[in-house]
Amino acid sequence: MTEITQQNEKVIIIGAGPAGLSAALYAARAELNPLVLTGMDLGGQASLTNTIENYPGFVDGIGGTQLGEVFQKQAERFGARMEFDSVTAVDLSKRPFKVSTYSKEYLAETLILATGANPVHLNIPGEELLTGKGVSYCATCDGWFFKGKEVAVVGGGDSALEEALFLTRFATKVTVIHRRDAFRAGAILQKRLRDNEKIVTLMDTVVESVIGAEKVTALKLRNVKTGAESEFACDGAFIFVGHSPNTQLYKDQLEMDERGYLKIDAKLQTSVAGVFAAGEVADSTYKQVVTSAGMGAAAAIQALHFLED
Ligand code: NAP
Repeated sequence: MTEITQQNEKVIIIGAGPAGLSAALYAARAELNPLVLTGMDLGGQASLTNTIENYPGFVDGIGGTQLGEVFQKQAERFGARMEFDSVTAVDLSKRPFKVSTYSKEYLAETLILATGANPVHLNIPGEELLTGKGVSYCATCDGWFFKGKEVAVVGGGDSALEEALFLTRFATKVTVIHRRDAFRAGAILQKRLRDNEKIVTLMDTVVESVIGAEKVTALKLRNVKTGAESEFACDGAFIFVGHSPNTQLYKDQLEMDERGYLKIDAKLQTSVAGVFAAGEVADSTYKQVVTSAGMGAAAAIQALHFLED
């Protein structure tokens, strides 16, 4: 049975990645007694990254999971409450806003939406069937299973290169397959890739299907310039071809751009007054831990101003 909480929360934060947890820290320190509905991904996508080297303050880098834990502890220290529950629906038609989870219904004067983004799939034959059987979207989670094996990494952005480098800890050979002749990733990662003897690159190449019955055995490839098709034997395929925002909950209630990112104004307010958004759910440009954390802090400050007004 759904329990309806009578308390009218000042601010509910949906999502517990860098944006949500930074919003929680700032809202807690502003004595708004924030409630964070964490969903299943405490720490957000950052927690799936092995090492984060570009979050200021950590000279030698910090593990993604560890950073998420630090964010959480710091927010809790000032009184932020974490509820490990997933939001199933929101009603933004009137204030207080209604937020439903599997077991409860909450009311909130303001909301901060920080539901982040999820990995994009290639949507090719064999991909879904073999997910968890050699197809993966998380090297930190699954890399260990490929000790002594050969894997492919699909994509040419920072995620693909960073995770390819990480996978060389386990795999004997990592082949990066990219659809163009130039990587999108930053120069430092490209240099590390070139310097790593375990990494081979296949440019101008797309994956047409994943082959295997019980587990991945090969990928069907096509060279986009010559049209030549080939079969590439490997034990695993790690796919890092970008992210799409988690905005399904807000469909038909909030304005979004053509790619599904929430539209926000300079005050990080969505198309509904009192509903703010932070992090990748509303950011198709920067997508960094530091920018998401900054947006979370700003959203909490704006929620405070909104409540004071
Ligand atoms: P991204 O930068 O959007 O790169 C996606 C890559 O996948 C691109 O190379 C793209 O090719 C390729 N791709 C997209 N759709 C494809 C398809 N259908 N088939 C084959 N290839 C496809 O995504 P990301 O690497 O996940 O990074 C997301 C954001 O997080 C970026 O802003 C990135 O800078 C940031 N990030 C930063 C770090 C870091 O700073 N250490 C680490 C990870 C991520 P094209 O190049 O041809 O478009």
